Amino acid sequence: MKAEIIAVGTEILVGDIVNTNAQFISRELFSLGIDMYYQTVVGDNKKRLTDAIAQAFERADLVIFSGGLGPTEDDLTKETVAAYFEAPLYYDEAIGEDIKTYFKNRKCPESNMKQAQIPQGAMVLANNHGTAPGVILQKEGKIAVLLPGPPRELIPMFTQQVMPFLKSRSDYVMESLTLRLFGVGESAVGEMLSDLMAGSNPTVAPYAKDHEVTLRIAAKAETKDAALSLIEPVHQAIKDRLGEYIYGYDEEDMPKTVAGLLLEKKITIACAESCTAGLLTGTLGNIPGISAVLNESIVTYSNEAKIKYLGVSPETLERCGAVSSETAGEMAVGIAKTAKTDIGVSITGIAGPDGGTEEKPVGLVYVGVCYHDQVTVQKLTLKGNRQKIRQAAVLNALNHVRKRILAE
Ligand code: ATP
Ligand code: MG
Repeated sequence: MKAEIIAVGTEILVGDIVNTNAQFISRELFSLGIDMYYQTVVGDNKKRLTDAIAQAFERADLVIFSGGLGPTEDDLTKETVAAYFEAPLYYDEAIGEDIKTYFKNRKCPESNMKQAQIPQGAMVLANNHGTAPGVILQKEGKIAVLLPGPPRELIPMFTQQVMPFLKSRSDYVMESLTLRLFGVGESAVGEMLSDLMAGSNPTVAPYAKDHEVTLRIAAKAETKDAALSLIEPVHQAIKDRLGEYIYGYDEEDMPKTVAGLLLEKKITIACAESCTAGLLTGTLGNIPGISAVLNESIVTYSNEAKIKYLGVSPETLERCGAVSSETAGEMAVGIAKTAKTDIGVSITGIAGPDGGTEEKPVGLVYVGVCYHDQVTVQKLTLKGNRQKIRQAAVLNALNHVRKRILAE
């Protein structure tokens, strides 16, 4: 089955609102294995909407409409789609009563009664969060699904009523697996997987996200198991080539992955942060339950603080500087010792925009990890503005912790 979405509303065209309904509907249709090649946004204009409907039904069997079911003059989706389906509108008593009930003690505006006008032969979708009912119209293999614009009405209506309707009509299911990769670029991934990316079922598509690359493997089949068994060999092939970069799947981002490892293995951790000034600790702090393993952290911007709280040697600071492999190592050892944790992790670097030199440019960051008294330090040369550099430093530190734990 081929589907399209028509989002109706001048507010979308002029940029007042973002078309999140299309994003939501697209994801749901994708999960049903329904193909979508086009989406349209059209203003509240009868002629242009009429044209958009005709065009969409030339290409697709299913068209989902969002918006324009309200009571006002410019809400004309239902009238226009009904005209296309040659279905006259009639007043539905029961729906009219429902709308009046919705207003409870307030007087129901006359204009709202327009929402009780239903196209002949339509299936009505109850609206439990507003007044405009949704509508499904079918004729000669063409299906139109009309949904109210407000997401708080559209989403439950779609999930509870439209999905079961479409499931019973779709011969396929779509399954997907998202691999999350860290420390490798999108173009390198593309080159290493070009043969797999040329396939059509499953499809393999890389996306560059902030500081990482995700790879989505998606397969369509008659059953979930059949789809999963198409995905698995491709997943294995990618693991063979890029396994060292894969750190998680689907919604597990780097902080969640590392926190999960720490909690599962009951490994305690403490952080000593310089240029990230608490961002690493704050990132871990977003994870519920992390206090079971994150004992303490300290921000040591100045050399004095690094000496006083972490026991970094003044001689090291003098000889190598605060941004150096040696200082990062001593910071990691120092925090693990004072906090009495399994892991001490340190970050020291130059986040910019000032403070860089030829020898130590902006973006130079050292991450140290002391785990069971063994210290490893990673030198990073990061790009971007201050915020990007600090975020990248945090993610690299977490990845370093992850690798150390997995290497044990
Ligand atoms: P109402 O009864 O509220 O008028 P409606 O079905 O007529 O509902 P619209 O008038 O088109 O829908 O839009 C109402 C509101 O719903 C918009 O102001 C906007 O906040 C939200 N909305 C509409 N379309 C979309 C969309 N495509 N994506 C996200 N939000 C939307
Ligand atoms: Mg409206």
